[in-house]
Amino acid sequence: MKIPRNGGRLGRRAILQAVKRTPPPKTSTEATLPLYATRFQCIGPACEDTCCSGWRISIDKETFKAYRLAQSGPLVDRFRTRLKLAPTARKTAANWGEIELDDESRNCSFLEEGSCAVHSTLGEDALSDTCYSFPRRYTAIGTHVYHGLSPACPEVARLALGVEDALELAETTVEFRTATAAGVIRVLPVDVMIAVTDFCAKAARTKGLVLWERLALLGIFCDDLTGLMAAGRHTSVRALVEKYEPMLTVSAASDALSAAPMNHALQAQMFLSLLRMGATEEHSPLRARIQRGVAVGLGVDPLTWQVDEMTLIERYTSGVGRLKTALEKIPFLLDNFVQNEMHVEGFPFAGKTPMVNYLQLVSRFGIVRLMLAARCNEDPIPEPPELIGTVRYFCRRFTHDAQYINAVNTALAQTNDTTIDRLYAFLRW
Ligand code: SF4
Repeated sequence: MKIPRNGGRLGRRAILQAVKRTPPPKTSTEATLPLYATRFQCIGPACEDTCCSGWRISIDKETFKAYRLAQSGPLVDRFRTRLKLAPTARKTAANWGEIELDDESRNCSFLEEGSCAVHSTLGEDALSDTCYSFPRRYTAIGTHVYHGLSPACPEVARLALGVEDALELAETTVEFRTATAAGVIRVLPVDVMIAVTDFCAKAARTKGLVLWERLALLGIFCDDLTGLMAAGRHTSVRALVEKYEPMLTVSAASDALSAAPMNHALQAQMFLSLLRMGATEEHSPLRARIQRGVAVGLGVDPLTWQVDEMTLIERYTSGVGRLKTALEKIPFLLDNFVQNEMHVEGFPFAGKTPMVNYLQLVSRFGIVRLMLAARCNEDPIPEPPELIGTVRYFCRRFTHDAQYINAVNTALAQTNDTTIDRLYAFLRW
C-alpha cells in the first residue's frame, strides 16, 4: 500500500532517529507493463477493502531491525508491542517479522482512519518491502522486467479487469525496490525465455479465438515445450515458437478446436475438494457477502461447506449458462484476468515445468469461472462491478492463504489424466 501523502510529519533527522536505516536500494529499468499499471494509484482511505486488513503483514529483516531499534517518535511503542518475529517455519529474509492485527477490526495495528501511520509519519522509505510494493509486482527474466499489479487490490481490480484495453502492453522505465523483484529461474538462455514468454502473451491475445481456444492452444504449446526441455533439446525451442506463430494469425486453430468436447460436470467436480476446504473467517462484510454468495450459488451449505456432487454439477451448469449473459456487459473480464496472471508471473516459467505452470493457470481460470457461475445463479444476474469483486475475492485469497494456493495449484496437476481431450473438455464452456 502506498498512500499519496506528502512524506510525513517528522523532519529527516527525527525520522533517522526514529527508524535507523539507509533507504533500501532501488532499481530503475525498462519494463513491459500493461496499460492499467500506468493508471494505478492507491486510493488510501477511500478503499473499500484495504490491503492492511485480515492477513499477516510481512516485515523484511532490514525493516524489522530498524523498527526494533527505533528510539523515539510516535510509533516507537507500537514497534515494540505489535511487531513480532515470524515463527521459524515461515521465517525468511522477506518475512522476518509480522505485524499483529488489531484483535477486533483485524486491521494492521498501524492503520489509522484508512491511512498507514508508518508512511504518513516516517515517509515511504520507512515502509517494509511488502508495504512499499503491494499491490505491485516485478518479475525479472534475466534483466528484463515484467511489471504488473495484483487484482487483490480493489482499485487494481477495477482498472485491470473492468477496462477493455487494460492489458495492452507497453514498454516504459520503472523504479522499484531491488529486493521486491522476483527472479524467474533460468531454465533456457534468457533471450529464448523472453521469446517464449512474449509468444505466450501474444497467444493469449489472439484475435479471432475465444479464451478457451487460446488456452487450449497454449496447452498444446506448453506440452510440446515441456517435452523438448525434458529431452534437453533446448536449441529447438525457437523453432517450436516459429511453428506455432502461424496459428495465431489464421483460423486453423479454431477449425481444429471446433470438435473439442465440453464437460460441465468435469469443470465443477475438479474443485469439489477445494470447496470442501471450507470458508475463511471474513471480518470484512464485503468479503463475507461474496463468500456466502459463491456458496449459496453452488448449493454449498454456508455453515458446513458440504455439498453433494450432483447438486454442485447442476448448480454450476445452470450458473455457467447465466454467466454468458452476464459477460455480455463485460466480455473481456476473464481474458484480462488470465492475461494478467500470465504477465505477473512470467508464464510459462513460473512452475516446475511449462506444463505444470499451464495447469496451475488453467486451474485458476477454472475456479474463477466456477465462482462467477455461482454468483450468476443470483437474481438478478450480477452487474459487472459485482463480477469484478468476485474475481478480486479469489485473487485476495489466492495471495494470502497458503493452503488455498496449494489446493488451487494442484487441483488439475493432481489428476492423473491430463490428456489434451480432457483438458479441452475442462476448458470449453
Ligand atoms: S488495497 Fe489497493 S487501493 Fe486499497 S489501500 Fe491497498 S493499495 Fe490502496
